[in-house]
Amino acid sequence: MMLKNVILITIDCLRPDHLNCYGYKRITSPFISSLARTGWIFTNFFANSSYTCASIASMITSTYPFDYGEYLEFSTPARLSKKRLLLSEVLKKYGYSTAFFHDNPYLSPIFGYNRGFDVCIDFGRKVLSSIRSKRRFLNLMFKNKKIQDLLWKIKDFVLLIDWFIRGKPIRTDAETILREAYKWSRKASRPFFLWMHLMDTHIPYSPKHEVLKQFGISKLRAAMILYKQIFRKNISKEEVRLVKLLYDSQIYQIDQALAKYLPKMVNHDFEDTYIIITADHGEEFFENGRIGHSGVLTDTLLRVPLIICGGLKRIVLHS
Ligand SMILES: [Zn+2]
Repeated sequence: MMLKNVILITIDCLRPDHLNCYGYKRITSPFISSLARTGWIFTNFFANSSYTCASIASMITSTYPFDYGEYLEFSTPARLSKKRLLLSEVLKKYGYSTAFFHDNPYLSPIFGYNRGFDVCIDFGRKVLSSIRSKRRFLNLMFKNKKIQDLLWKIKDFVLLIDWFIRGKPIRTDAETILREAYKWSRKASRPFFLWMHLMDTHIPYSPKHEVLKQFGISKLRAAMILYKQIFRKNISKEEVRLVKLLYDSQIYQIDQALAKYLPKMVNHDFEDTYIIITADHGEEFFENGRIGHSGVLTDTLLRVPLIICGGLKRIVLHS
């Protein structure tokens, strides 16, 4: 039997009800809609938790968060138990080439997420000089939560200034991750398993300046929201409309990057590749009195999109 490639795309904080294929009116995701039309769209799909550490650990190992006794707490995750077998480890046994591209500190090799991968590109490494110094840095942070918070805020504030002046995203954006993954896919032997975790929809939002313009948001107003997100200042209910607009612009940016690189990754032929798009959890915009996501379990945080397509004859995409 001919094994097919698998591309798994997990998008941090992505709510299904902000995607056009789930009925959202503002244009955020035309390319994802075109993928959904060719495959399956699941309208009642739930994550196993409302934050990255527990949700992704469950998803990528097909286990429940409490199964193996690690403390998958909201902000101080443990290294994944070896008893949890990652999807990459399973597919490796079947002869797959495997790669993982991301910029989420909770999915770093130090927590075991590189297991089973030939290539694991953690873009967060670029912020700190090496994995070794990162480990020392994280150890320091774990001992003192206040130092941890302050260091991250200072780092993000410097990045905010850089975004304001030069448009450089605060987290590695989808375009960069897709571009690097595309380069890998061109050289990888078949079949391959490629996992990309995208952070554009996680705060602090830092869209490209031209996308801001397209969504009618001034740079200064966006910067004020970013400042409040970084320093955890209160966001008023009046500002939520703007926060949602920024969130939508980030989805649009992801959609554009997918439209640019996904067809090329599969040589415009989706017959040999399955594409899975989902999220680790949602995001709240005061539906339950809060904004953001945390260790509470609400429908808004647990309901996530799931779209599976590909593995079919050539399909026509409208981006
Ligand atoms: Zn997350």
